[in-house]
Amino acid sequence: MLNPVTEKIEENLRAILPEAAFRDLEPRYLEEPRGRYSGSDGLLIAPGSTAEVSAVVKAACEARVSIVPYGGGTGLVGGQIAEEGQRPIILSLERMTAIRETYPLENIMVVEAGAILANVQEAASDVDRLFPLSLASEGSARIGGLLATNAGGVNVLRYGNARDLCLGIEAVLPNGKILNGLKRLRKDNTGYDLRHLLIGAEGTLGVITAASLRLYPQPQSEGVALMVVADPEAALRLLALAQSRLGQGISAFELIGRMGLEFLVETKQNVRQPFETKPEWMVLVDVGLGAGMQADAALEELFMAASQEGLVSDGLIARSEADRAAFWAVRESIPAANRAVGSVSSHDISVPLGAIPDFIKKGPKVIEKIGDFRINCFGHVGDGNLHYNVFPQTGRSRADHENERSAIKRAVHDLAHSFGGSVSAEHGIGRLKVDDLERYGDPAKLAAMRAVKGAIDPVGIMNPGAVVRV
Ligand SMILES: Cc1cc2nc3c(=O)[nH]c(=O)nc-3n(C[C@H](O)[C@H](O)[C@H](O)COP(=O)(O)OP(=O)(O)OC[C@H]3O[C@@H](n4cnc5c(N)ncnc54)[C@H](O)[C@@H]3O)c2cc1C
Repeated sequence: MLNPVTEKIEENLRAILPEAAFRDLEPRYLEEPRGRYSGSDGLLIAPGSTAEVSAVVKAACEARVSIVPYGGGTGLVGGQIAEEGQRPIILSLERMTAIRETYPLENIMVVEAGAILANVQEAASDVDRLFPLSLASEGSARIGGLLATNAGGVNVLRYGNARDLCLGIEAVLPNGKILNGLKRLRKDNTGYDLRHLLIGAEGTLGVITAASLRLYPQPQSEGVALMVVADPEAALRLLALAQSRLGQGISAFELIGRMGLEFLVETKQNVRQPFETKPEWMVLVDVGLGAGMQADAALEELFMAASQEGLVSDGLIARSEADRAAFWAVRESIPAANRAVGSVSSHDISVPLGAIPDFIKKGPKVIEKIGDFRINCFGHVGDGNLHYNVFPQTGRSRADHENERSAIKRAVHDLAHSFGGSVSAEHGIGRLKVDDLERYGDPAKLAAMRAVKGAIDPVGIMNPGAVVRV
């Protein structure tokens, strides 16, 4: 049985930590972006060093008090919000933001877990390198949270997800011991790789305090195009054509449907509609090429080749930095438009690439059986990852459909599972998808996960209730 933080425990913690580590528990620490979860209480502690994190975790372990690690609070599955009724330690990494070391020749940067992603991207750019992790929450999400959720984003197609960008981890394990794993090695075949256990564990196996990150050369010529395709099948064939012509030069390949464009208008997002008539489907293609290559020209040639094959019917190629930003704004404003419309149920699914067209064809049929809804399907189609969100019809609200939410979620997840897909492509399990993991997860995997959790965190203090029930 875990204990709430009592005055006595707080007193003990105040004796071992500097005053600066104690911060006011502002409401934002108890809220999350989609408003599905809210915490009721907690003791907010923001340590200033790994040694201080270790002291907190050790004290919490001895007092049998739970800890919820907290990054930027942008997680979409409720992992950063403690369950009602607990009074946990909310352990924020917000004071540990240092870029500890940069090794441009090795393409490596060592940063603390509280560093905000946009600042890490900027620090990489200052040494003429690229840290390619990129997502709409990059102005708030912190490296520890991004690794703990194994975040994806728009550049996974080319550079992989957070896991692929991390070469080493420093973390505090649930007994308070510091795992010194900040290696800068690309080859290190020395048994179990605890880095990969901590990445994606959503704070259930320890607190990530720093990471060595993989950097890349900056592309020398970058370009973006929007291309109208007849359907998702054509989008996939366009992706294959683009990959055969440009290889690894494609950084992002995003699918956008008409409903997403209509939501931008309906919710008055400050973006320009790219085409006079809203297409049923279009893709955003982002390329970054090496020296001596012209991204605009490459995109133009791709468009010509795709037209000859009947894959695209219209297209726009960005001619300036402002165009590029405007094209990306269309894609990146869709989540805000979705929030303004208010989804009944949102899903972050993945299926094998080849199954995307069938999934998109069958989706509306399974939803129709439940009721009359609008579907906004968009996302990182190059990774087989769709954000498949179901909305009320105009004039109705999500509150009108409370009773249908679980049936919708079940139908979408069953469909993804039937294609050999995943019910969480990039957002994680958190508290939102614990039941889904139990329903769809491989039983041997679940048993191994519980065994790992029990072995590394026998008292169960690390983020109880998230990811896996023990
Ligand atoms: C507008 C918007 C767009 C987004 N787009 C994407 C997207 O494209 N792709 C994507 O993958 N995600 C996306 N997300 C989700 C979110 O940004 C990511 O999941 C991000 O990785 C969370 O980072 P954070 O620092 O905010 O973590 P938090 O929300 O604070 O925490 C997330 C989880 O990680 C744990 N955690 C936090 N810090 C640590 C630490 N130091 N050690 C151990 N555990 C820790 C928490 O306990 C929690 O379980 C989006 C979110 C928003 C709001």
